[in-house]
Amino acid sequence: MTEAARTDARPVRTTAAPAVRLTAVTKEFGPLRAVDNAELTLREGEFFSLLGPSGSGKTTLLRLIAGFERPTSGRIELAGREVTALPPSRRDVHTVFQDYALFPHMTVEQNVAYALTVAGVRKSERLARAREALRTVRLDDHGPRRPVQLSGGQRQRVALARALIDDPGLLLLDEPLGALDLQLRQEMQRELKRIQRATGVTFLLVTHDQEEALTLSDRLAVLDRGRIEQTGPPLEIYDRPATAFVAGFIGSTNLLRDQAAVRVTGSPGTYSIRPERIRIAAPDGPDGTPGPGERCVPGRITEVAHVGAHTRVVVRLDGGDDQLTALRLNSTDPPDAARPGSAVHLLWNVNDAFPVPG
Ligand code: ATP
Repeated sequence: MTEAARTDARPVRTTAAPAVRLTAVTKEFGPLRAVDNAELTLREGEFFSLLGPSGSGKTTLLRLIAGFERPTSGRIELAGREVTALPPSRRDVHTVFQDYALFPHMTVEQNVAYALTVAGVRKSERLARAREALRTVRLDDHGPRRPVQLSGGQRQRVALARALIDDPGLLLLDEPLGALDLQLRQEMQRELKRIQRATGVTFLLVTHDQEEALTLSDRLAVLDRGRIEQTGPPLEIYDRPATAFVAGFIGSTNLLRDQAAVRVTGSPGTYSIRPERIRIAAPDGPDGTPGPGERCVPGRITEVAHVGAHTRVVVRLDGGDDQLTALRLNSTDPPDAARPGSAVHLLWNVNDAFPVPG
């Protein structure tokens, strides 16, 4: 662990090469293409996530980078060094799994120091570094305990400390918080982010939880059926999805194709309009007339669902079966006659209906 890790400042690593570079990486299992021609570059020190539905190839991609799988074709580089054919032990990488994989017969401290024991580091240094790693994950007092005496979140932190002890160039995390309940999961998300910032280690997180990926990552890649659909910072992916799949998978959206697109936006193609960008107004009220740059369509409310801080309103547009969903924020939007059956105008800025390829 670096000096800076002790002071919680973010250390700067000096390698100019990207932490990970995948070039045309494909992995086939018999007839199945689990990873299809992946191109991916991770910058040194960033928090990067692979996000996608079950079976989209996230874990396979991670295992290829770790060295647990060999690609069918393509090239893998870590910190500028080609590792495509190297075993995991010869890559400067550690992996943290969902099930922690701690040794039950060892103390927390021994678990954390394990890599150093294997490497033949002498005992006093091992202990000093294990304690330091435990401090990084805020478990200073737990060194003498055994894993069974810890909570799930604490065990996950021990797994993190163990993976970080020899200052790897890259830490791979495969759904590390998947076994935790929601509250603990959110707490551990904050911890993960803090630890990543404190150590400056490049983190690659596999998750199917979009909120987790969007809140933690500097950048992320969205996968579908083995293909990387889009790579970018969270806001860009949310605001400008590159494909219809990404638009539908990240957040919720109104996806309009073909005739529906023409009827709703006035143009052919495929368009996405986020529900929170649609304003609902009474047709004859003061807000019911479109302002400059706004589009307005009339309809009738078919469904109103109160979802915590929001109300989701589904509106069937006049003259057809097209539907749009709008979100209202309960705390700030004025209460109105958003009841099933009410006639309403839906309004949005024309820029908020953005085209998505296919
Ligand atoms: P999940 O979120 O459910 O873990 P994932 O996105 O991580 O899914 P992968 O585990 O990478 O997806 O699997 C991608 C595809 O490859 C799936 O169809 C899976 O069944 C298949 N697959 C993965 N490993 C193997 C294997 N060893 N042999 C055969 N098929 C495999």
